[in-house]
Amino acid sequence: MKKLPLKWKLTILYTAFMTILTVVMLGVLLSLSSSEILSSVEQEMEEKVFGVSEDIQWTGKRLQLDRDLYEVENGIYLSAYNENGSLLGGRIPYEFTEDVPLEEGLRKISAGDIQWDIRDTALEVPGYGTVWVRGITSITDAESSLRITVRFSLVLFPLMVALAAVLGYLFVRRAFRPVAQLTATAREIYEKEDLSKRIGLTGEKNEIYVMAETFDMMLDKLEASFEKEKRFTSDASHELRTPVTVILSQCDYLLEDRELSEEERSAVEAIRRKARSMSKMISQLLFLSRADQGRQAVHKELLDLSLITEMAAEEQEAMATEKNISIVRDIEEGIEGYVDETLFIRLWMNLIGNAISYGKEGGWLKVSLKKEKNTVFGAVEDNGIGISQEQLPHIWERFYQADTSRTGKENTGSGLGLPMVKWIVETHGGKISVRSTPGAGSRFAFYLPLDPTADPAAVTFGEKEV
Ligand code: ADP
Repeated sequence: MKKLPLKWKLTILYTAFMTILTVVMLGVLLSLSSSEILSSVEQEMEEKVFGVSEDIQWTGKRLQLDRDLYEVENGIYLSAYNENGSLLGGRIPYEFTEDVPLEEGLRKISAGDIQWDIRDTALEVPGYGTVWVRGITSITDAESSLRITVRFSLVLFPLMVALAAVLGYLFVRRAFRPVAQLTATAREIYEKEDLSKRIGLTGEKNEIYVMAETFDMMLDKLEASFEKEKRFTSDASHELRTPVTVILSQCDYLLEDRELSEEERSAVEAIRRKARSMSKMISQLLFLSRADQGRQAVHKELLDLSLITEMAAEEQEAMATEKNISIVRDIEEGIEGYVDETLFIRLWMNLIGNAISYGKEGGWLKVSLKKEKNTVFGAVEDNGIGISQEQLPHIWERFYQADTSRTGKENTGSGLGLPMVKWIVETHGGKISVRSTPGAGSRFAFYLPLDPTADPAAVTFGEKEV
């Protein structure tokens, strides 16, 4: 019962309640009508017995009996007896074979499966003596109509229960429809991370309508505060850009001075390094806030992806050589696909840059590009320091940097590169993942559909693990 949907639970409860109510009502009604029928039959018999008694007379020669004595009405039989119990006239039911002694009052006698109601009364007929009048009726007869009603109710009862269940379910389903709409909207907001969605219930202004309206109001507020936060990030980045540019150009200017002492030179160089990483962080922040606001331009065009990958690897060659890292290329030639050139280059630069930054002196990194069905598979593998399993799920989060002391170098990262890479892959309809072993190296691999305008459902990613 615990796992049943609320809709079913309510239907079962409602049906059970209706069943109990119907049973109780039928029970009360039937027992009331049963006693009502019995008392009305007894009363009628009493009236008939006294009715005929009044008309019995002694004419002087013979006893004159009422004609009504011979008529059976509503199952009531009437008969008259003399003092010794001999039948004087009237009718006795065929099935009534019992020899019941005459006795003043009303009695119930059961014979076989028939129940009889007997009403005897003695009267004094002037000139004749005592005459007994007896009324007989079968209770079974009186109750047979009631039994028919009971049987009819028994047939009707399951039908009524079924009808109550079906109607109850339809009613509950209808009442729950707005709840389903509410759930669907909440799910859509969660899955698409789109706070602009609203439930927008129309129709009857009931409790659920008020709840949905409150929910929408809350979403309005949430959306506004998220927008404010995004705008703040983008405004702050913009404001920081100019001072950092000034710091950088001032550093360059100072470093041109040949008179600078060794100590002063290294201090200015340290400032320049930090200012450069700040400038990189600001441009990454701007990129991500534009992406969040849907303002990051994406121009997909048909490009030679192999060539761009080759160029990106080439560009990082100098940085790799500084660290004595060799770049191995496994790039399939002539792969063409629709991508945004700038974003695709950024993607490679970040992944290759990371492989160098977190690579070991004298190590290697491998850049791969392959065509797989209607997608392109890309990967950057290194034999660097690797990432621990606990840290792995977090590297896609903004500003997350796995233990920076591991590189043994001054930290110039920002923790914004991989979130950017992820956004680029996803905005092209692709997917990305990472595998890493601490101390042994990492492998970042992604799939991009060659034609991102194609229906996402029609894209079949390759077999390789991403
Ligand atoms: P950062 O600017 O710090 O490099 P990223 O978002 O690019 O930011 O990366 C997040 C973190 O993931 C890094 O701080 C680093 O610890 C880890 N990381 C990324 N690439 C690699 C790699 N190839 N090898 C080991 N660790 C990596």
